[in-house]
Formats: sequence, C-alpha cells, structure tokens
Amino acid sequence: MSWIRDWKRKRILGRHRIDDALWQRAQKHLPFLRGLSTDEERRLKEFAVLFLAEKQLTPVRGLVLSEDDRVEIALQASLPVLELGLDWYDGWVGIVVHPSDFKVQRSETGEDGVVHEWDDELAGESWPGGPVVLSWEALDEAGSVAEGGANVVIHEFAHKLDMMSGEPDGVPPLPSREARERWVAVFDAEFDRFCKSVDAGRETFLDPYAAEHEAEFFAVASEAFFESPNALRRQFPDLYGLFKDFYRQDPAKRLGS
Ligand SMILES: [Zn+2]
Repeated sequence: MSWIRDWKRKRILGRHRIDDALWQRAQKHLPFLRGLSTDEERRLKEFAVLFLAEKQLTPVRGLVLSEDDRVEIALQASLPVLELGLDWYDGWVGIVVHPSDFKVQRSETGEDGVVHEWDDELAGESWPGGPVVLSWEALDEAGSVAEGGANVVIHEFAHKLDMMSGEPDGVPPLPSREARERWVAVFDAEFDRFCKSVDAGRETFLDPYAAEHEAEFFAVASEAFFESPNALRRQFPDLYGLFKDFYRQDPAKRLGS
C-alpha cells in the first residue's frame, strides 16, 4: 500500500513546511545541522514535517513543548535516516517526553534464581516495537557540547535502527552477509579497544557508558558521528568508515574540522 502512503505524504508536504526563521533558529541551537547541501537541507526539512505528522509526540508531567521544540526533535531524529529513508522508523509511533531524567524500575532474575530489583535514572529509553522515551533536560543539552557531545535523540533513534534487525546488539540491518561480517569484525575490534581503555581508567572521548554493551557503543558512537564527527574520525577511524557506509553520510566532511 505504498502508493497510499506516498499520496498522504505528498498531501502533508503540500500543507506544512518549516519556515526559514524556524530553520535558522534550529541550526543555531543545533550546529551539527550545518553544512548540508541545498538538496539535503530540503529533504531533512521534509522528513521532519512527515515525522511530526506520522509519529505521536507526547509531553508528560506538565511539560509543554513549543513548535520549535517539536521541530528540533524531529530534525534530530530525521538526520540519521536522511539517506536511509523515514521508513526505517516504521513499526511504532510514540515518543514520550519527560521534563527531566526519569526513574524506571528494573528487575532481573539471576542464575541463582534470586530476583534483583533496582531503580535506573535515565535520560532516554527505546523499546523494541514500542515508544521512544526522552528527557527534556537531556534534550536541551543537544548541540551545546562541541566534543563528544551527548545527543539523547540521536542515541535513542540509533537504538531503533539497531533493533530493526532484531535484538539490540550494535548491528543494524546491512545489505549483505559480507557487509554484516565486515561490520562485526570492525565493530567488535573497536568496541574491545574502547572497553580496554575504560577498564584501564583512561580518559575516553566517548562516554564510558558505551562500554556497557555493544548496543550502547553503537548508540553513543552514533551521537558522536553526527555531532562531533571529526573527533570520532580521529579516535576511531575504522568505526567512522563503517558508519559512513551505513548511514551513507560523511558528517566530518560536511562540518569541516
Ligand atoms: Zn542507550
């Protein structure tokens, strides 16, 4: 039924657009949106408009989102799929935005049969087939850190891309078995190298949290890929090459050093 979708999308784009003043404010707040070609810029704006029409953005606990806030979330979510297509976010609709970092209760049954329970303080969360949950406090920091900057939107949406091929494991859908084998070889080597640095107590460019799991390494490195790509390319050249092929974008080139 893709023709219905195409028709609906055309209709939405005929009625809504991101005006120049709003785009300029967004670029000022999110400097990593700079350097796009005219065509890329047009497509990113269109993706953001469609994203807002097709997804359901729900602020909770008294949080109010302005039009700028909503558009900025949509622009950041759309950037990673600019060359892949918005269809990569199919299968779920909800985005819940909390005013600040939120607590979730976790429980896990250990091998000894004992159930362990604890609270986690989160800036974001992404469920397979379910909603993306974001903290506004963390969102507001996007674009404000030049090197190794955190970006909770790109982080959570990178998890969504990862989960398009099943369990979150740091391996997104890839076009062939060869591509998958290459991904696993390069990615695992870079992940190992990173974990060793963290274990050795060395200062790391990426948040040490990325050492927790391959899926977190993928999400945290994706934040850096879009927000501070030159630093990522210097620190993890092989990983940068892998991401460049996967996302079909070269942010280091577009943003300059
Ligand atoms: Zn994560």
